[in-house]
Amino acid sequence: MRKRIAIIGSGFSGISAAAYTAKSGNEVHVFEKHSQPGGRARQIETDEGYVFDMGPSWYWMPDVIQDFFVDFGYKTSDFFELVSLNPQFEMIFSDEKLCVPENFEELKITFEKIEKGAGLQLEKFMKSAKFKYEVGMKDFVHKPCINWVEFISPKIAKNALRLDLLSNFREYVARYFKSEKLRTLMEFPVIFLGASPKNIPALYSLMNYGGYVLGTYYPKGGFYQLVLAMKKVAEEQGAIFHFNCNVEKINVKDKKVSSLVINGEIHEFDEVIASSDYHHTETLLNEEYRNYTSEYWEKKTFAPSSLIFYLGFNQIIPNLKHHTLFFENELDQHIDCIYEEKKWPEKPLFYVCCPSKTDNSVAPEGKENLFLLMPIAIGIKDNEFVRQKYLMEMLARIEKHTGITDLQSKIDFKKSYCVRDFTSDYNAYGGNAYGLANTLNQTAVLKPKMRNKKLKNLFYTGQLTVPGPGVPPSIISGKIVGNEINKIKN
Ligand SMILES: Cc1cc2nc3c(=O)[nH]c(=O)nc-3n(C[C@H](O)[C@H](O)[C@H](O)COP(=O)(O)OP(=O)(O)OC[C@H]3O[C@@H](n4cnc5c(N)ncnc54)[C@H](O)[C@@H]3O)c2cc1C
Repeated sequence: MRKRIAIIGSGFSGISAAAYTAKSGNEVHVFEKHSQPGGRARQIETDEGYVFDMGPSWYWMPDVIQDFFVDFGYKTSDFFELVSLNPQFEMIFSDEKLCVPENFEELKITFEKIEKGAGLQLEKFMKSAKFKYEVGMKDFVHKPCINWVEFISPKIAKNALRLDLLSNFREYVARYFKSEKLRTLMEFPVIFLGASPKNIPALYSLMNYGGYVLGTYYPKGGFYQLVLAMKKVAEEQGAIFHFNCNVEKINVKDKKVSSLVINGEIHEFDEVIASSDYHHTETLLNEEYRNYTSEYWEKKTFAPSSLIFYLGFNQIIPNLKHHTLFFENELDQHIDCIYEEKKWPEKPLFYVCCPSKTDNSVAPEGKENLFLLMPIAIGIKDNEFVRQKYLMEMLARIEKHTGITDLQSKIDFKKSYCVRDFTSDYNAYGGNAYGLANTLNQTAVLKPKMRNKKLKNLFYTGQLTVPGPGVPPSIISGKIVGNEINKIKN
């Protein structure tokens, strides 16, 4: 039966869910509160000629992203050009810098130079990580995780030990490498998963494989090209996108969602998929229909929020790579400020993306486009004073690294983004940037459920449910929910 389906939100998960449900012949409408698609991956175009991706900048796991397009008879190259970055990124320590090259053999040499035997150890680490990637990204993450019986397939049960689900990432990395620098380099990707390496299962070494071995890419024109390409695919399947449409309430009748209130008007649907932040979606329901209480959310470990600056500079900044990690201070000190102490860091680490090094369409000629990101605790005090204070610190460290002086006077465009903006723009709990952390007790079946327990026609998708945060998982999340809806007969 052709169903009338509403999707709340047009981030990666919402667009993906729209494409899969429309492909099965349903009438699909996507309602997005903003004027453009992409959610956390929206783009800003300034009058000065800068183009900023607002969120994601690391294009990892290209095969997983490709799978979405293949499902609809396409390839990513039908829509945009992917550039493989070399080096993939540079990490700045207090006493030296380390480049991660595109070529894995060269990376082994880099490791060997830092620690005798580390080249071979890296090979062993990646052999195991490849196995996890293949089982994890091809099997495990595609499950709706309704219960343990459904989740633990014979393949997962047979390989439970090799998947390292129960050991922690910190100890796991330490088994391979002694050098603090190499450990930090290997631990850094789990920050994307929103938790301390101490609390993340070693299973997620699959991230190291999905990045360092498969490579770090950049879509020409910016990450937003992926959003536009996916939207085009969804529209070709028949999905209809409605922008500037805020969903204000989810109405219930006879134990089913009957309609949505959108910009003050009532619209009826057979099924609803909410890709808006899970906690916010539940506030659109009367309390008795919510899956989780406010106490439940208070106890959850959220991934960090972020302080971000989108900066245009009126000159080229030398000695800066496309991706640079400023890790001159201790990783643990910063991480503890996010998860334990929940305060602004005294000795912060931060990340700089300079896409104009690869793409001359994102800044006017002779100018530079910089995106600065510092992960911080959710819910902390955020005001102009504190944002400015950290901007000064980050600029000073960029000056030291690049040799350019008085960067502040060269700023041509400046916009900051932080906790308050995540909360107001995305209805994000505590102003989180990356959803819910992938800690052991928030993995798979232990994540917030994809289906409402009392209302059979209400589903949730996106980075707060399975499989978790990140662009590839969000795309997969939309596919899983689409498949669940397609299984329903009437
Ligand atoms: C700064 C930043 C950097 C990141 N970097 C990377 C990276 O380099 N690589 C990577 O893989 N991942 C990265 N991520 C994570 C990745 O961007 C997210 O996991 C992913 O985009 C989440 O997609 P989503 O569909 O779950 O949610 P969202 O993108 O948040 O989409 C939800 C949508 O719902 C809309 N919405 C909310 N409430 C309503 C309502 N009531 N009515 C209508 N619409 C509503 C919102 O406007 C939004 O468009 C980053 C995230 C951030 C914030």
